Amino acid sequence: MRLLLLGGTTEASELARRLAVRAEIAATLSLAGRTKSPAVSPLPARTGGFGGIAGLSAYLRENRIDALIDATHPFAAQISAHAVAAAAAAGVPLAVLTRPPWPPQAGDDWREVADAAEAARALGETPRRVLLTVGRLGAGPFAAAPQHHYVLRAIDAPDDPPPGAEIVLARPPFALDDEIALMRAHSIEIVVSKNAGGQATRAKIDAARALGLPVVMIRRPPLVAQTVLHDIDAALDWIAAQGAAP
Ligand code: NAP
Repeated sequence: MRLLLLGGTTEASELARRLAVRAEIAATLSLAGRTKSPAVSPLPARTGGFGGIAGLSAYLRENRIDALIDATHPFAAQISAHAVAAAAAAGVPLAVLTRPPWPPQAGDDWREVADAAEAARALGETPRRVLLTVGRLGAGPFAAAPQHHYVLRAIDAPDDPPPGAEIVLARPPFALDDEIALMRAHSIEIVVSKNAGGQATRAKIDAARALGLPVVMIRRPPLVAQTVLHDIDAALDWIAAQGAAP
């Protein structure tokens, strides 16, 4: 069977590794091309947008794709919405592979907000030292709250960081001790995070709890797809079921 895997996440890379050894599945990994040096793909890969819903549905048809897995980041809402519409248009079954969001735990001090603009407002008027972990492309709205000192941690340098921001380049996974050390070294008073879920970046949340720091937590955009899977084995079972379908 022929499978298209929309990636750009730890889960997609893990699924790609598991698919690479399955001779009966011809899978292609699709990346947006945002990360400047992406990890080497164990599968044949393609890079760059498809050109909207029409482009993705044409790709599905032209490449005779039998099943589509959307394993993009939970905050990559546009490609996920495109996947739903394009899969329906091309008559291709679709499943989303995503990690569950982090639930708040005892000792957490979270202020949940809808998006980055609300997160910037939630930091308040008083200048604070902020660890900003919203990705290279998510920092724009914080320019509207320039009274804060931002330590912006991202995989690649942001094009347009808030004025005066300190940039820390690092690639997940992150360890708890390192996150605590980073927050102490920069005298961080508050953390801004997306509720990404998963293990690779959750240590910052545990570190904030350990240090008694508040977290402005950006909620996930809603999921549109019908079939939502939370682990790699479930995704492999779903793929096998599509291959077995008449
Ligand atoms: P997005 O806003 O949902 O998508 C914007 C456009 O980028 C899409 O319409 C599509 O272009 C293209 N695109 C996105 N993912 C693609 C993929 N896997 N393969 C081919 N084209 C793709 O996405 P985003 O938030 O910019 O995220 C881009 C990539 O970074 C995704 O692969 C995502 O998994 C990864 N990522 C995102 C975040 C985050 O916080 N958003 C965090 C970590 C990793 P066309 O319309 O032209 O097809």
